[in-house]
Amino acid sequence: MAEIEREAMEYDVVIVGAGPAGLSAAIRLKQLNADLDVVVLEKGSEVGAHILSGAVLDPVGLNKLIPDWKEKGAPLNVPVKEDNFYMLGEAGEIRIPNAPMPPLMNNHGNYIVSMGNVCRWMAEQAEELGVEIFPGMACSELVYGDNGEVKGVVAGVFGLEADGSYGENTEPGMELHGKYVFLSEGVRGSLAKEVIAKYDLQQGKEPQKFGVGMKEIWEIDPAKHNEGEVTHTMGWPLGSNAGGGSFVYHLDNNQVYVGFVVHLNYKNPHLFPYMEFQRFKHHPKIAELLKGGKRVAYGARAISEGGYQSMPKMVAPGVALLGCSVGMVNVPRIKGNHNAMLSGMAAAEAAYAAIQDGRASDELNDYETEVRNGAIGKDLKKVRNVKPMWSKWGLTASLALGGFDMWCQTLTGFSLFGTLKHGKNDADATESADKHKPIDYPKPDGTLSFDRLTNVSFAATNHEESQPCHLRLADPNLPIATNLPKFDEPAQRYCPAGVYEVVEKDGKPEFVVNFQNCVHCKTCDIKDPSQNITWVTPQGGDGPNYPNM
Ligand SMILES: Cc1cc2nc3c(=O)[nH]c(=O)nc-3n(C[C@H](O)[C@H](O)[C@H](O)COP(=O)(O)OP(=O)(O)OC[C@H]3O[C@@H](n4cnc5c(N)ncnc54)[C@H](O)[C@@H]3O)c2cc1C
Repeated sequence: MAEIEREAMEYDVVIVGAGPAGLSAAIRLKQLNADLDVVVLEKGSEVGAHILSGAVLDPVGLNKLIPDWKEKGAPLNVPVKEDNFYMLGEAGEIRIPNAPMPPLMNNHGNYIVSMGNVCRWMAEQAEELGVEIFPGMACSELVYGDNGEVKGVVAGVFGLEADGSYGENTEPGMELHGKYVFLSEGVRGSLAKEVIAKYDLQQGKEPQKFGVGMKEIWEIDPAKHNEGEVTHTMGWPLGSNAGGGSFVYHLDNNQVYVGFVVHLNYKNPHLFPYMEFQRFKHHPKIAELLKGGKRVAYGARAISEGGYQSMPKMVAPGVALLGCSVGMVNVPRIKGNHNAMLSGMAAAEAAYAAIQDGRASDELNDYETEVRNGAIGKDLKKVRNVKPMWSKWGLTASLALGGFDMWCQTLTGFSLFGTLKHGKNDADATESADKHKPIDYPKPDGTLSFDRLTNVSFAATNHEESQPCHLRLADPNLPIATNLPKFDEPAQRYCPAGVYEVVEKDGKPEFVVNFQNCVHCKTCDIKDPSQNITWVTPQGGDGPNYPNM
């Protein structure tokens, strides 16, 4: 094939991903020096289209970035006014009192927001400062310089043939070069994954851990709506099958965010995270709230859970990883947006100082130092043992020990447990199907619970059918030859969008990949026990079109 010729554009900083991390970095760079050339590339059809969070936002990052955000009309309109924790059983619940909770668990001072809308607003602020933002532009490749440094990205490749080759209608995209490239792709970023592997950035760190989060927006009976109420639950229906739990946040306009997270280190390959979520809504407490309401949107996204001990080295020559491309979620708080913003600012400050000194394409070590020793490191260090305790000792023990540990660390800065390890990665945690019983899930009733494909239509996801499948199988035979006999091919169940199916054709099982349904959650890339699936970005503009997720 002839060499592909692309135009190249030069910037000071190239930012991949218009989430809270990338947009904070862009804003901070322009605040520091209005003359810097800064570009943000976003694969969603618009900023916010691929953003999925809870979300209760701790405004600590935004306060620092744009202290007058209120006057500037930031969409933080619903302060949290009530904070509830419940342990669910199948037919009832026990309220966990707030008093013994460590202060970091308190949500007062936080806001229930649509992070999609917050990002849309942040993009406007960035553009006013002169940042160039290109939505609908997926960054599909990294560009390396002569010394192995990251020099830029390729963005805007459209119209590839179904086999991945270039055809008559293919637009080859362009190269965007920067003195520094920031990867703020969120959890399990595909370019970040390449950088982590190429520069061995995970070496000496614990493996990254993940959950899959699914979320619906409901419009409910106004009589049951309580703007500002935040509820978290644990226990039923997951029981001892997996870690995880739910969130129910009452925003404005009689809307409620109903979400469910399943930790992806579950052992039983028969587990069906999506059906656990659907079943959860039939708990009497939740069913009562939703009865008479309607689901208006659905989406899913992986969430990083490894925390402090799993953060990879986050800089390599010419490149820095930001936000959840590193994994900055505080697991007991289920919050990462504040750290994503703080990391964006820290990366911007380090890049600004380096460029002032005439540097380019080297390692922004000051950024890494700030993340590990500054506000982000402090936030994550205190809670570093909660997830490994939960994985090792189960929910009840980890509630008591995790609570004790968080109190100790809050009061003394010290943990009796040191830093616990996570052990295996989530793919390796999957055990063979014959060691576990299949789980019998009730059929969705179409009122409170829905089948996957109906729900996926509420994610408004779209992929051009003629383009290559962006879910690449290293070995196309492996799903049927290995995963099916050994793990009952769990892709059929762990994907919250019904992308993967095993169907029968001519009396034989066949693995089908319906990539058009993909909501870009990245669960397959994480959980496939054979690590045979690689998620790469499809062309820009494809994927979900979330409203106010
Ligand atoms: C179910 C769920 C509930 C959560 N609840 C909360 C909560 O209540 N509070 C809280 O603070 N945090 C919460 N989080 C965590 C929070 O969402 C993350 O910490 C946060 O999104 C990280 O921000 P980010 O900017 O790093 O990445 P993201 O917000 O994921 O943004 C990344 C952006 O980059 C784009 N992108 C990715 N790859 C490319 C590419 N190759 N080319 C171009 N663009 C690309 C994406 O489309 C996306 O717009 C939750 C997460 C989940 C999944």
